[in-house]
Amino acid sequence: MQKQAVSYKSLGLCNSRELFKKAVSGGYAVPAYNFNNLEQLQAIIMACAETKSPVILQVSKGARSYANETLLRYLAQGAVAFAEELGSPVPIVLHLDHGDSFELCKDCIESGFSSVMIDGSHLPYDENVALTKKVVEYAHQFDVTVEGELGVLAGIEDEVSHASHTYTQPEEVEDFVAKTGVDSLAISIGTSHGAFKFKPGEDPKIRLDILAEIEKRIPGFPIVLHGASSVPQELVKVINEHGGKLKDAIGIGEDQLRLAAKSAVCKINIDSDGRLAMTAAVRKVLDEKPEEFDPRKYLGPARDSLKQLYMHKIKNVLGSDGKA
Ligand SMILES: [Zn+2]
Repeated sequence: MQKQAVSYKSLGLCNSRELFKKAVSGGYAVPAYNFNNLEQLQAIIMACAETKSPVILQVSKGARSYANETLLRYLAQGAVAFAEELGSPVPIVLHLDHGDSFELCKDCIESGFSSVMIDGSHLPYDENVALTKKVVEYAHQFDVTVEGELGVLAGIEDEVSHASHTYTQPEEVEDFVAKTGVDSLAISIGTSHGAFKFKPGEDPKIRLDILAEIEKRIPGFPIVLHGASSVPQELVKVINEHGGKLKDAIGIGEDQLRLAAKSAVCKINIDSDGRLAMTAAVRKVLDEKPEEFDPRKYLGPARDSLKQLYMHKIKNVLGSDGKA
């Protein structure tokens, strides 16, 4: 069956342009929360409606094939209606996380995404420029915003995996932004994908000096942080107390992320912390009530725990509460 192209505008979504402009001038960052199922989406919308925060619903290539792209589109459309129903019609962006090809970005744009990331960070510089430019030229015809990436993050996230990182070189950013026309730029300044970013005893630091140098070269340009989960130790503890085996999971301190959010960083991706919150809640219920077999009895608490985590991030890390 031939698929009918659908514009994000008809779904009630918005692109990231205005959101980032306000975030840069207001000294806060917009949350980018990954989702691939109903409970995650409920938690995101309830948390953002209650705190009046704008939000970026983020979908990876893996999530797209897991949840089915058609269902996802209706879920995003439903999210807009749900927020209105809650009396808080916050701006909602539907964003592709780590797009790895022009074709995937094009497909997402045609199926209702309002924003896409093209991640050419693993390519030689000139190829990254060429690929990113191609996606930007296509996306902008439909008023869809594009995130590019310079520098490589270490860690594992769905299909994206690198053993070591390369910091973004500040001297490349001006040229990259000018040549590609991207709307925002993901950079590598010491954050890392996944829950096992660093070794115990390490005190991971974000290179705020590199961020400042980048900001100096492209003032006011929206910067994005990936791999910014903090891996709350109380969640790791709950998981391990109820049969889990997460060893040595450590993340980035929230105080450092708060500093970054006050600067040119206007989008912070949060995925792993949400996974930990859900897993902790599910494990606790199933361990304490082994007779339980109604999925709502463990997915409900997982959703509530996720909502609390998201509200905490909005208020204490991103600073986006009341900014919708
Ligand atoms: Zn990422």
